[in-house]
Order: sequence, then C-alpha cells, then structure tokens
Amino acid sequence: DTKRVVNFNPGPAKLPESVMRQAQAEFLNYDGLGISVMEMSHRSTEFMNIMSETKNTLIRLLNIPDNYKIMFLQGGATGQFSALPLNLIRRSPNSSADYIVTGTWSAKAVKEAEKYGNINVVHPKLKKYSRIPDETEWNLDPEAAYVYYCDNETANGVEFPFVPETGNVPLIADMSSNILSRPFDITKFGAIIAGAQKNIGCAGVTLVIIREDLIGYSMKECPVVLDYKTQIGMNSLYNTPPSYSIYLMGLVLDWIQQNGGVMGMAKKCVQKSQLIYTTIAESDGFYSCLVESGARSRMNVTFRIGGPGGDEALEKEFVEEAKKANMLGIKGHRSVGGIRVSLYNAVTVEEVQSLVRLMESFRQARQ
Ligand code: PMP
Repeated sequence: DTKRVVNFNPGPAKLPESVMRQAQAEFLNYDGLGISVMEMSHRSTEFMNIMSETKNTLIRLLNIPDNYKIMFLQGGATGQFSALPLNLIRRSPNSSADYIVTGTWSAKAVKEAEKYGNINVVHPKLKKYSRIPDETEWNLDPEAAYVYYCDNETANGVEFPFVPETGNVPLIADMSSNILSRPFDITKFGAIIAGAQKNIGCAGVTLVIIREDLIGYSMKECPVVLDYKTQIGMNSLYNTPPSYSIYLMGLVLDWIQQNGGVMGMAKKCVQKSQLIYTTIAESDGFYSCLVESGARSRMNVTFRIGGPGGDEALEKEFVEEAKKANMLGIKGHRSVGGIRVSLYNAVTVEEVQSLVRLMESFRQARQ
C-alpha cells in the first residue's frame, strides 16, 4: 500500500515524492552496480562521485565561494552545536563566545557551550520565546570567538527576518529547520550548521559549512570525529560517513534545483505560511499566534486555539480532526503546547490549503 497522507511533521519530515520514488527505484541496484548505496564502500569511486556531486549542487544552490569548506558529518545539529565551541572557542583569548537565545534550540546550544568556555548571552533573557530581542540591546564582545544564533527556532516558530551584524566576529547560525528555504549571503557567516531531516534530506547527516580561516583552533579534548581540521582534511571521510543520508541529500538538492532553486523554495514558503497566518488573523481571536509579527517563522507556524492561552481540549480535538482528514504532525512541541504546522520545502501549497480549509470549518462549527 503506497497511500500517502499530508505530513506536517517537524522533523524528520516530508520528503519530495519524486525523490522517494527515485531512491526506491535505485534501492537494490544503484546505477547498474548490482548493490545499494547502503551497501557500497564509502571509499569507492561511485560513492566519492555521489559525495562530490552533492557538494557541487550545494555550492551552486547557495553560491558558496572557494574559501568555505563543506562537511557531511554525524551527530545531528546537537552534535554540531557541541562541536562548534570545541573547534572555535580557543580563538578568543579568554575562551568566550556570544550567544543570542530566541528559543529552545539556541538555549540548548548555550548549555552545551558552557561546558567548554565562557558564554555570554548578549541580551536580557526573554520571558517568552516570541520575538527577536532588539539589536540595540545586544551587548556584543569584540573579543568573542564567535556569535551564535538559531536562524529558525523550530519548536517556537521564531525566525530571524535579518542576518545579525557582528563586525569582525564570525557569525555562526544553526539553520537546521530553514536552510535552502531562502537565499542568504554566505560571506556574512563564519559557519553554518544544519541537520538534514527537515529541508534537505533524512536524519543521519549534518551539514557544516565553514570559512577556511576558522579551522585549526580545536581544543585537544575535541573528539576526532568532531574535529573540523581532521574532517576537512579527509573530505568528511576520517571515519565512515552517513553515506545513505548523503546520497538522499543529493537527490533532494537536485529536486530543489529542478524546482526553481532557493528562490523557488522561498516564494513557496512565504505563500504557504501566509495562508495560515492570514487564517489566524481573520479568525476573530479563535486562533492566535503568540509570535510577534516580525519574527514569525515561514517554516514552523505555531498557534493556539480558543484564545492566546489556548484551550487544550479544543486543540486536542483539532489534532484529532486533522488526523481524520489525513493530516499528521501538527501537535505543538512538548515544551510549547498548542499547534505547530511545519512547512518545509517538500510540503505543497495544496496541502496547506487543505489545512486552512479545516481551520475554517473547525472554527465555524464552534464560534
Ligand atoms: N536545531 C534546530 C533548529 C532543530 O530544529 C533541531 C531538531 N529539531 C536541532 C537543532 C537538533 O537536531 P538533532 O536532533 O539532529 O540533533
């Protein structure tokens, strides 16, 4: 049975159907080799080709210049937000780094980084994760090893509408849940980390893009698999890479390329998220988004039902009605509650329209 439902999962999340079909068609016998990519040596010419094609497509899609290096690593974004201080904090004379905390994931990154250095959260702590703290309140340290932020907070539905300005201090972003959903100027960044399982593939591989001059500062305690100098020197092949996940990422990147590239994705993301935000705005308070208008995510739309505090019984009912209509994955993050609809690249406008219709009929039946 190949029946598919509408999948609004926050990650792992929906993949383009054509990608899944191609992976299926090639699953047992890749390119006439008589074996699966899963069964292939990671040092074989065929796998090397998969890896270099994946990398080249990424370079084209994001306009990545030569002085940036790309790694395909294990450990997830969580592994990588630990790897960052291990690799970079020694750049600062007093092992310090600046963090902007706009949601659960940047908060977790701080907790991890505190194990390795002096971490400064650059703004007054937010009571609620519903906005980007005003830039005029940021207290940036010119001697910090780097400034870290999360471009899109998946659980809270908070997304940066701008790239923070950090002068000469390298800016590092966790783009796990919005990479390749809008164009950005990579030269404004020292490094970018992104788990694949939302916008660019399946779980298992984490993308790291880093400016060359930031490599070579790792602490001696840094595990070798997380050491950027070693991994870059070995083209991400110091140990066995997540080979099948890299292959699948390659297929997703090709699909992005064929569907209008990053600009194509960006247009769709705005369209999809606006459909829901407009429905919320026109609901006479039945639905409410608690994120301030300038910080609302195009990828993860979070809202409450039955007023700003949320009526949990009503929200549960909505999740159940959605399930009956074959729409999955809209229950809010356990730390946030309410509803969260994730609109990654593979989710179609038609799928979002079907949810919006449900939101309207659900409200009309109760208001
Ligand atoms: N950062 C962000 C923005 C995320 O959304 C997630 C996963 N939901 C993570 C980090 C953690 O990723 P992983 O589970 O791959 O470690």
